[in-house]
Amino acid sequence: MNKIALLGSTGSIGQQSLSVCRFLKIPVAALSAGTNVKLLAIQAHEFKPKLVAIEDEKLYPALKTQLKGLDVKIIAGKGASCDAAACDGADAVINAILGIAGLKPALRAIEERKTLALANKESLVAGGTLVMSAAKRYGVPVIPIDSEHSAIFQCLRSGLRQDVKGIILTASGGPFFGRTTDELKNVTRQEALQHPNWRMGEKISVDSATLMNKGLELIEAMWFFELTPEQIEIVIHRQSVLHSAVEYLDGSIIAQLGALDMRTAIQYAITYPRHLPRGNGRLSLTALGSLTFEKPDYDTFRCLSHCISAAKSGGLAPCVINGANEQAVELFLNGKIRFLQIAELVGAALDNVKTKNSTSLNDIEEADRMAREYILSNYRFKGHVTSAASNQKGL
Ligand code: NDP
Repeated sequence: MNKIALLGSTGSIGQQSLSVCRFLKIPVAALSAGTNVKLLAIQAHEFKPKLVAIEDEKLYPALKTQLKGLDVKIIAGKGASCDAAACDGADAVINAILGIAGLKPALRAIEERKTLALANKESLVAGGTLVMSAAKRYGVPVIPIDSEHSAIFQCLRSGLRQDVKGIILTASGGPFFGRTTDELKNVTRQEALQHPNWRMGEKISVDSATLMNKGLELIEAMWFFELTPEQIEIVIHRQSVLHSAVEYLDGSIIAQLGALDMRTAIQYAITYPRHLPRGNGRLSLTALGSLTFEKPDYDTFRCLSHCISAAKSGGLAPCVINGANEQAVELFLNGKIRFLQIAELVGAALDNVKTKNSTSLNDIEEADRMAREYILSNYRFKGHVTSAASNQKGL
């Protein structure tokens, strides 16, 4: 079994990854986090990694104090997660960092020829060309953790690549499924964070409410599996047990089903190609009774349409849409914009931010910066949602 370097260990996927490591008794060589010193220290005391990294330099003294007595190297400051990705003792890296901050550590893991288990979808959305071409160049496997992509990865094993017609990417529909635009005008941060099926970090929960998450996943799937946007059908499946499917040229659809537990996908990314026993409950189809499938509402959930446009445009358009969304979601979570403004702003950024015709790391970073600046200079504070009154015209 591989030794793991876990990036983003204090987040939702990070903590579930450690639960898998605990269950399978997999050694952890390195841990990295952004700011959560307390949890990072607790994890380090339990898993005893060789290296612990924190991105916020100011937190070095606090981390050092909390790790007193442990034989561990501490790294703090911008780029610390890249050092964790390159950690000597690790053969595989789980990248569970949030946002485009995961891009450089993903590239570093590949350059160090470590198997990359990737939860961080933003690195593929913004820098898919870079990540996948580096993986090919260095001969490094990149294994998906996102449950839909893990499902597709598994379904692809049942046939030949040249016989694939396309994929079916399932979406829960999020907490606002079935609502009209009018009914979304006054939804609150709290409501947006209430995902019906999954407990996740705040940013991805909001992305699931806008359906941006499914749009990002469409682009992620294009990179993982070398597909065109036209080969990807998005289907709303409220129960979230059919994680996704592959359609072959003869009309056969091979799907992967499983319990609502991200640890299954995380474990498979670590134990691939083995399906080892897990400590979780089994999915009972008879208890479930029925499964439903519906078309998405592209008019109400505009982020999905924006992502498909960006996917079709190619180049740095996906990077712009990702950066714009990260910034807009942050504003929404901080009570600075309303829910529907996320899609308005992201669409406007996609139309107005002009990027270079190249996908170098510098140009990706520049496009991401311009997208964020566009959002920050174009949003208007509309007040917190406290009453039914709201006027949602323009940006
Ligand atoms: P969380 O917000 O729960 O956790 C994010 C993690 O990233 C934390 O450990 C955080 O550290 C760390 N982090 C944040 N910024 C930085 C930075 N600049 N440098 C280094 N580390 C940083 O997110 P999730 O776990 O929900 O999601 C992580 C990724 O996995 C996302 O890309 C998401 O789309 C994807 N994903 C998540 C799923 C889920 O069920 N949650 C499912 C499928 C995919 P700290 O908290 O210490 O600041």
